[in-house]
Amino acid sequence: MKVTDHIKNAKGKTLFSFEIIPPKKGKNIQELYDNINPLMEFNPPFIDVTTSREEYVYIDRDGLLDRKITRMRPGTVGICAAIKHKFNVDTVPHVLCGGFTKEETEYLLVDCHYLGINNIMALRGDAMKHQRYFEASNGGHQYARDLVGQVKNLNRGKYLHDVMEVDDRADFCIGVAGYPEKHIEAPSLQTDLKRLKEKVDAGADYVVTQMFFDNSKYFHFVEAAREAGIDVPIIPGIKPIAITRHLQLLPHVFKIDIPEELIEEVEKCKDNKQVRQVGIEWAIKQSKELLKAGVPVLHYYSMGNSSNIKAIASKVF
Ligand code: FAD
Repeated sequence: MKVTDHIKNAKGKTLFSFEIIPPKKGKNIQELYDNINPLMEFNPPFIDVTTSREEYVYIDRDGLLDRKITRMRPGTVGICAAIKHKFNVDTVPHVLCGGFTKEETEYLLVDCHYLGINNIMALRGDAMKHQRYFEASNGGHQYARDLVGQVKNLNRGKYLHDVMEVDDRADFCIGVAGYPEKHIEAPSLQTDLKRLKEKVDAGADYVVTQMFFDNSKYFHFVEAAREAGIDVPIIPGIKPIAITRHLQLLPHVFKIDIPEELIEEVEKCKDNKQVRQVGIEWAIKQSKELLKAGVPVLHYYSMGNSSNIKAIASKVF
């Protein structure tokens, strides 16, 4: 079922969902199942599975460095299919512009349709580690908006190069990313919202936000988005802080602010066990306020560890 239909069917009740990161390659899927299992009691209607960009590895061959391209984690679509069938839950693969040609994207979308996966999170992806700025792959998309357009075309039965064997149309529901504290590359929040509107006009059905730790940032973002004519559901993304290092890491990587009060609480902690507890309590407080405000879904970034999400969900749902 589509994410937007789950929201409609909930009739104003806030749903619980979460995002997982595939484990590093070489691992068995059982660990992922064991991580998801404790969260199933909160009835997530959908689970997101992230995609990581390709990376370069350098192999030393008698003093000469040989550069090879590799992917560090197993494929998202296969993981989505496995989770969907194991837990009878909808899954949302994150589909990236970066690292994929349009043809490869079409192939991936055909797989999704075949496997009964009918939600897609359409994202640009970040620059590769060695790059300063994002560069589209040769024959790939530059912006998430263009990827949304490709998925939408597929929904209309329009394949690349007009090649279609069987007219069994996909009907993907499309999610896109939104940034309450603006995207790192956007010159202003207003411009970023204009870009978000373009993604919605291209066919996006809902938005999931970047993590934030101050709910007023989300409320302001939703208000500004509505004023900009963005009328689709805007799902807040919540991440509990888990280690002291997050105080530097999260602002650096995601260009987000951490409220003074939370910083002080974390700095008082003697070890990461205490930090984890502070993170859980902060996320519970955030979640309760968002729930009261009637958000459609509370979407948690699990980062491969479900135990803190379980602690939060058991106090909120
Ligand atoms: P876009 O919407 O394309 O925007 C990128 C930048 O370009 C923005 O600054 C925007 O303002 C600007 N822009 C857009 N259109 C135009 C235009 N026409 N002209 C000029 N500027 C324009 N990354 C991963 O690698 N894997 C994941 O699984 C993943 N999941 C995510 C999930 C969520 C909920 C979020 C919020 C982010 C996720 N990301 C993921 C990170 C995301 O890929 C990065 O933030 C990326 O830098 C931007 O992606 P986007 O889809 O928002 O890009």
